[in-house]
Amino acid sequence: MNIDANNMETVVNLIMKELNKLNLEGDNTVCCGKNGVFHSVEEAVAAAKKAQRELFDSRLEVRDKIIKSIREHLAKYVQELAELGVAETGMGRVYDKALKHQVTIEKTPGVEDLRAFAFSGDDGLTVLELTPYGVIGAITPSTNPSETILCNSIGMIAAGNAVVFAPHPGAKKTSLRAVELVNEAIRLAGGPENLVVTIDEPSIENTNKLMAHPDVKMLVATGGPGVVKSVMSSGKKAIGAGAGNPPVLVDETADIEKAARDIVAGCSFDNNLPCIAEKEVVAVDSITDYLIFEMQKNGAYLIKDEEQIKKLAEITLKNGEPNRKYVGRDAKVILKDIGIEVGDEVRVIIMETCKKHVFAVKEMLMPILPIIRVKDAWEGIEVSKELEHGLRHTSMIHSKNIDVLTKYAREMETTILVKNGPSYAGIGVGGEGHTTFTIAGPTGEGLTSAKSFARNRRCVLVGGLSIK
Ligand code: NAD
Repeated sequence: MNIDANNMETVVNLIMKELNKLNLEGDNTVCCGKNGVFHSVEEAVAAAKKAQRELFDSRLEVRDKIIKSIREHLAKYVQELAELGVAETGMGRVYDKALKHQVTIEKTPGVEDLRAFAFSGDDGLTVLELTPYGVIGAITPSTNPSETILCNSIGMIAAGNAVVFAPHPGAKKTSLRAVELVNEAIRLAGGPENLVVTIDEPSIENTNKLMAHPDVKMLVATGGPGVVKSVMSSGKKAIGAGAGNPPVLVDETADIEKAARDIVAGCSFDNNLPCIAEKEVVAVDSITDYLIFEMQKNGAYLIKDEEQIKKLAEITLKNGEPNRKYVGRDAKVILKDIGIEVGDEVRVIIMETCKKHVFAVKEMLMPILPIIRVKDAWEGIEVSKELEHGLRHTSMIHSKNIDVLTKYAREMETTILVKNGPSYAGIGVGGEGHTTFTIAGPTGEGLTSAKSFARNRRCVLVGGLSIK
């Protein structure tokens, strides 16, 4: 048989299809992934390394094109990813998750984030450039699985890297789907295959392999304290985006009606899964009753009975830690399990507690919001600081007193501080600034974007090119 260029391509495509089929059916000897999904860490890293070299050797406009394609292509799958995330993890709200994906697509910075810096003078011209690390290992959470994959992919590719994702095993389907869709978008843009990859069986063991792999030059962990500690002690450049316990302080100068609306909206957003969401209210005594009254008007259900509060703590905690069964669940579902039937309009469960109550101290990630009364704003600042545990993650305040606002900001030292707005204003939803789902408090990058995933390099030209 004569094989011309056209049917040669057909034959190659058929062979590739068969190989991919084998790969999906579990043959570990085949070393090509499908849509960025590989069997082993070794294969995934090797493929990513090759893709990164190709990207690095291309023009910046290639990265730009890929990111544009990710934004356009993924915009068609916002609802699917939101539904899949809620169905698989049992956590969050579809409407809010869809919004989270949408802002990620629209407001995660691309290549424009990489600005060069120059010095020039008698000795010549020196340029500081933001350059890629190479292959990044990114560990992602169950609470924002596909949102994190999307925003990390955009930022990491913009900085010229490839990325191997290690998703939470509890969000495997959603995470793999997000990786597949990003791969489709890269292909549509004509970008290198396997710039964004993952493994088909996420596990702590595979994550550890990824962290130790010599070709992985940077680690980015978005999750709880365990994984952040792991990457920070890896000996590699690491970004740690860890847990928080954000307080919201309300003083007597605040617009109480607005504060109540904002707090319920922020706390109940995706059923309190975002690490930035309001986790406890610290309210000045003189306005606390009115604040509670207004919160009730906006979807908060007040529990006054001590026995019911106790019952709520019994079911929502397991061995002193948040019970996974209730993490990210609707307030209505949680209330039902302590014998209280309410309608869909209830979004948050509120109660007055002391500052030592477990609901105030623990990061529950549930729409349960304790309210702690203080005599004045100054005491409120102390209590808020105590409850944030020095994590320096996120805090909110509703006040019009400049001295209080200033003192709160200085004392809290949080990576995000939202004044007179809901917590999500801090990640660009109704507040100025870009969006990210990797907020790096422990390692100091803050709200990560492309420049956080880039190495700063200095190129010095001696004795020329200065035109001063
Ligand atoms: P998690 O810590 O259980 O898991 C996060 C990721 O780390 C997963 O991929 C998991 O498989 C992996 N992992 C966990 N322990 C590990 C270990 N010892 N070694 C290696 N890998 C490990 O967190 P989660 O429940 O999925 O997410 C919720 C937590 O993440 C909350 O504490 C929340 O505040 C935090 N979070 C922080 C940010 C941020 O930007 N700062 C964003 C989202 C979530």
